Amino acid sequence: RAKSAGGNRYEVADAEADARAITRHGLTTALPAALDRGEFFIEYQPLVHLGDGTVRGAEALVRWLHPQHGVLGPDRFIPLAERTGLIVPLGRWVLEQSVRQARAWQQRHGGTGPLRVNVNLSPCQLTHPGLVQDTVEILERAGLEPDALCLEVTESALIGADDDLLKPLRRLAEMGIDIALDDFGTGYSNLANLRRLPVRVLKLDRSFTQGMQQFPADPVDLKIVEGIVSLAHSLDLAVTVEGVETGAQAEQLRILGCDTAQGWYYARPGPPERLHELALVDATG
Ligand code: C2E
Ligand code: MG
Ligand code: MG
Ligand code: MG
Repeated sequence: RAKSAGGNRYEVADAEADARAITRHGLTTALPAALDRGEFFIEYQPLVHLGDGTVRGAEALVRWLHPQHGVLGPDRFIPLAERTGLIVPLGRWVLEQSVRQARAWQQRHGGTGPLRVNVNLSPCQLTHPGLVQDTVEILERAGLEPDALCLEVTESALIGADDDLLKPLRRLAEMGIDIALDDFGTGYSNLANLRRLPVRVLKLDRSFTQGMQQFPADPVDLKIVEGIVSLAHSLDLAVTVEGVETGAQAEQLRILGCDTAQGWYYARPGPPERLHELALVDATG
């Protein structure tokens, strides 16, 4: 009996694994046409200055409006796009849209200062030879200053990075584009290694902010964040925190000296017009 029940469980598990594999396969083959058909769209999540509470810009987060499956988050399809190479044209599309959007915000926004945009780069884009040239052309076509753009690269993508990989990032940084180290603290990077990277911003991973959700906050998490902030500032890096979900977290992170915050407490990712509204609220008080 037990054996046949176990057998059934395995059958169910196998069926689920098969279904997931079929979906993955279907999504993978649908990706190129999806780009042509305009099924991708971008949501923007505000980046808020912790010192004065103003909206300084937003991170671009891509979504896929799939005709059968509805809206899919990037975790569902970015890995597939990376495996097939579609990430290069998809990433270029995201960059172009986001840069044009930032220019549009700036033209409409009379408030506290220019609005900037953060765009995620996958490791495959870093090794693609067209990256620097494409980025220059996209900025020029849109008429956006390079310092209004921040490119986010994950810590794990840069672990053990050799000079060939860092060269395009250095060129982009020299042009005035900020480079941010995304999901910082989840990899195993040697902190001394930070000096070698052309990075201006550390984006502290959500796992650190999670320990600050309860009150009082986890004392070990507080110490770790405090240490990272002081290290970052001593290297002239700004610190952005992800995943801020409560006012208590925001206050704690402000006291610890973090510069910028992002999270549901301020706003979920949303359409580009919303960012303009949020920034205008700031400008008018
Ligand atoms: P990420 O760059 O670390 O982006 C932050 C993720 O945290 C986003 O998930 C965002 O929606 C989510 N988030 C923001 N605030 C909160 C919060 O307060 N609580 C919680 N629980 N989550 C929060 P999303 O949009 O699902 O994106 C996941 C990842 O997909 C991103 O992580 C990024 O690595 C990748 N991604 C998104 N867009 C692109 C893109 O255009 N190109 C590439 N290569 N990767 C992208
Ligand atoms: Mg990011
Ligand atoms: Mg991140
Ligand atoms: Mg993250």
